[in-house]
Amino acid sequence: MMAIFEYAPAPESRDVVDIKPSYGLFINGEFADGSGTPFKTINPATEEKLAEVATASSDDVDRAVQAARKAFGVWSALPGAERAKYLFRIARIIQERARELAVLESLDNGKPIRESRDVDVPLVAAHFFYYAGWADKLAYAGLGGTRPLGVAGQVIPWNFPLLMLAWKIAPALACGNTVVLKPAETTPLTALAFADICRQADLPPGVVNIVTGAGETGAAVVGHPDVNKVAFTGSTEVGRIIARAVAGTDKKLTLELGGKAANIVFEDAAVDQAVEGIVNGIFFNQGHVCCAGSRLLVQESVHEEVLESLRRRLSTLRLGDPLDKNTDIGAINSAEQLAKIRSLSDLGESEGAQRWSPACELPDKGFWFPPTVFTGVAQSHSIARDEIFGPVLSVLTFRTPAEAVEKANNTPYGLSAGIWTEKGSRILWMADRLRAGVVWANTFNKFDPASPFGGYKESGYGREGGLHGLEAYLDV
Ligand code: NDP
Repeated sequence: MMAIFEYAPAPESRDVVDIKPSYGLFINGEFADGSGTPFKTINPATEEKLAEVATASSDDVDRAVQAARKAFGVWSALPGAERAKYLFRIARIIQERARELAVLESLDNGKPIRESRDVDVPLVAAHFFYYAGWADKLAYAGLGGTRPLGVAGQVIPWNFPLLMLAWKIAPALACGNTVVLKPAETTPLTALAFADICRQADLPPGVVNIVTGAGETGAAVVGHPDVNKVAFTGSTEVGRIIARAVAGTDKKLTLELGGKAANIVFEDAAVDQAVEGIVNGIFFNQGHVCCAGSRLLVQESVHEEVLESLRRRLSTLRLGDPLDKNTDIGAINSAEQLAKIRSLSDLGESEGAQRWSPACELPDKGFWFPPTVFTGVAQSHSIARDEIFGPVLSVLTFRTPAEAVEKANNTPYGLSAGIWTEKGSRILWMADRLRAGVVWANTFNKFDPASPFGGYKESGYGREGGLHGLEAYLDV
């Protein structure tokens, strides 16, 4: 893409990670073979094979659940302060191995090293530190109970592999539960590195078990009769399947599903700051973000000014090698996801919206999609309704705050929203009316372990993070 001046390549070294040719399952503190057919995980930026990974059959999942059940007796009986020591130790090892984890995440997922290094991995460590602090203070959390639930079955997606693992495992362990976790098929490597970290931290065997595989393995985890709690992050479609599988059992369930967030820019907003927030809102992590600001609602009076500024800014973004420290936009995670982004974007064009991307050369190998902006979007267009989960922004306009609220809430989802204005009173007025679990004001995609996260409507239920995140893992 056009740049003010060219940057010399600044690649992070791959040598800081040692990727083995093949990986097994992590059950009862040991790496073991899986009974299913192994699958390969690739680098989406080059399509190069990174490793073979074991597939857990339902018998393997059963062994993992049994290990977790056995470990539950020991782990839940430890005083909170003792559990905290393990969690603090894990947090510190994550910090010590931060560079290795960041490179591994970028290789397996395609996200820019700048993001895995500065956002994902520091937040992962922060989550473990935060929940380590709660482990001996559960009685003061005011939740009405301190008893853990038992064995937690957790299934996570590929967009923030290690961070979603931390969101699930840190609170579960702090409360005294044990865990069987299935990472996504396209991004299993950092979860397996985490298994190694558990060993390094001397975590008692069976407290954390990692079972790799596809949707069937996930279904075996969710459906296992001896699992007491199910936590899922992923698509609304699979969330529905899981809700059906859990219905009628006494398993506790939290679902964190899709989104189609409105990022709302008022005419009194600081335009340059808002444009940075729009870019961060939808192009961070290639738009593979459930709370991405994929619908820009801009007040009609500043529409042209904001769009012009946005186009100028997008022309300076650098797309390419995820391991280059100057890269802003990395690779799309998989061929399937690329096909989905392409087909939804083509649909947007055929429905009559105008498509724009900056001049941008895409690498020959790997999965790439340029940052894309659609203008002239109507609320009925599929690009204004469906989660694209890619670097695609749909722009709509509004005239009054009431109209902004109506349009923002006109979605089956309700995960997040953004407001850009210099008036504090307007922020509060809007935040009161927006049906979204998280509302950011003059910022976007800001995460903190102390802050709860979760949705309304088809974005799921339950909260992760903060004090609220403990509730999902306690018998209250
Ligand atoms: P899925 O919801 O299919 O995957 C999430 C996790 O669930 C993965 O670990 C997956 O395994 C597993 N899984 C799949 N089927 C089942 C099942 N029946 N029972 C239990 N677990 C299951 O998302 P995809 O990765 O397939 O992406 C599809 C679309 O979902 C994307 O295009 C995007 O729009 C949306 N998405 C939204 C996310 C969000 O956070 N809001 C996150 C990821 C995707 P496996 O990886 O092996 O299939």
